[in-house]
Amino acid sequence: MAKKRLGIFGGTFDPPHVGHLILAAEARDQLALDCTIWVLTPDPPHKRGKRVTSIEHRLAMVDLAISGDEAFSLSYVDIDRPGPHYTVDTVKILKGEYPNHALIYLMGGDSLHDLPNWYKVDQFLSTLDGIGVMRRPGDDIDISELMTALPQLEEKLNFVTAPLLEISADQIRRRARQKRTYRYYVLPKIYEYICTQQIYQ
Ligand code: ATP
Repeated sequence: MAKKRLGIFGGTFDPPHVGHLILAAEARDQLALDCTIWVLTPDPPHKRGKRVTSIEHRLAMVDLAISGDEAFSLSYVDIDRPGPHYTVDTVKILKGEYPNHALIYLMGGDSLHDLPNWYKVDQFLSTLDGIGVMRRPGDDIDISELMTALPQLEEKLNFVTAPLLEISADQIRRRARQKRTYRYYVLPKIYEYICTQQIYQ
């Protein structure tokens, strides 16, 4: 019997926005994923020193973002362990939890660009069955350079076709602080949550 295919979508999700949802939904369709777990990272090593919204608010927002889509669920794998949360450790734990699944890690093109610098990236790649990447404006990907740095990528890399979306969580936080509109960059229920909880003032 063919293995079930599990998408793993890690992020800070501060806040989750339509770019995240489109990536996850297109990856599900194009990479034939049976389900995708959203892995909220409380303490991302590459964002150390930057201000990150409380885990409670980010949890609530991811929960709202994925509720109603039965192919998506929220993983506590990083929330339940002390930081720093290196992705290599996250995927190894998930491999133990889902021994009969093929594991496909989802990311944007900016993350793919940075991949050679990820902690223990060779182990990260060998734990996975595939990587699904949605390009991002300005992500500056040089495939041959990446393949030279990470030969394992060749058989694992899949691009997900989608419109380029110039939307980022950072831009949403900035717009909120500047009282500029970001309303349609997020789901209505997330917009309402951000406003009522006054998260990005
Ligand atoms: P920030 O602006 O705070 O750095 P972000 O918008 O990049 O946040 P993250 O939670 O850091 O969001 O991203 C989780 C994953 O989603 C990353 O792999 C990132 O590349 C990807 N991603 C986020 N936004 C987009 C987008 N608009 N298009 C494609 N991929 C995206």
